Amino acid sequence: MKWKRKIFILIIFFLILANFFIWKEIFALSRGFLKVIFFDIGQGDAIFIETSQGHQILIDGGPSGKKLLEKLSNQIPFWDKTIDLVILTHPDYDHLAGLNYVLNRYKVENILWNGVEKDTKTFGYWKENLDTERKEDKARVVIAQKGQKIKAGKVEIFILYPLENLENKFFKGTSNDTSIVAKLLFFENTFLFTGDITKKVEKKILEFDLGATVLKIAHHGSKVSTSKEFLEKVQPRLAVISVSENNAYGHPHQEVLSNLEEFGIKVLRTDQEGDIKIIQGYGVSNF
Ligand SMILES: [Zn+2]
Repeated sequence: MKWKRKIFILIIFFLILANFFIWKEIFALSRGFLKVIFFDIGQGDAIFIETSQGHQILIDGGPSGKKLLEKLSNQIPFWDKTIDLVILTHPDYDHLAGLNYVLNRYKVENILWNGVEKDTKTFGYWKENLDTERKEDKARVVIAQKGQKIKAGKVEIFILYPLENLENKFFKGTSNDTSIVAKLLFFENTFLFTGDITKKVEKKILEFDLGATVLKIAHHGSKVSTSKEFLEKVQPRLAVISVSENNAYGHPHQEVLSNLEEFGIKVLRTDQEGDIKIIQGYGVSNF
């Protein structure tokens, strides 16, 4: 009978379709999720990353330890006293100060930084804390350099800059251009973390594979960073600016904002949004 055959084919078709959706769901679940939070930390950077396997990574600590510990306690349960990895992009106050408090409060298993020397009080504490962390908590301290790769579950982090080992190089003023640049990969989602690099460094790394869905705008939106050439290479869907309200530097600069607009890149700012939470996984993206 012809109609029987038609119904049979229809049932098979629906079964195949249902099967497809079930497998898609299972596949999404098996990938887990990635959480990236750009803390509203004032004029500075502090970025918290967590994987579904429980890896916790902190990039920079912002200018206020009190604020940072408060933010972290909302993300890390009180019984959990360890952080897998702390990355200090460069030892300027607005990236370093809060990390001194983190090193005192938490057992940090791995510390990645650029090794450059400064003569500030905050830097002195950092060196002392590094020693303590190394001796008492058996932390692994690594000097960042291009070519290094970090694996945290399904997340991979590639270090793109500094190009060479900068350990013990002294910087009297700002150390912006020694900032660690790192690219994070989680399936098709990629994040580019740029510290405070200026256009000078952007030029040096322009030939690398910079493409990323989310770009952490360098140096709080200063006009000395984020060239058009750089944006053209990264081609982000989203740009995040970590900046305080009414800061004395006039960050973010109008020129940077105009360039981002010209490229059609969505912008989120911590001074306007508060903490910026990006969740990837389960087949969803919240931006
Ligand atoms: Zn900065």
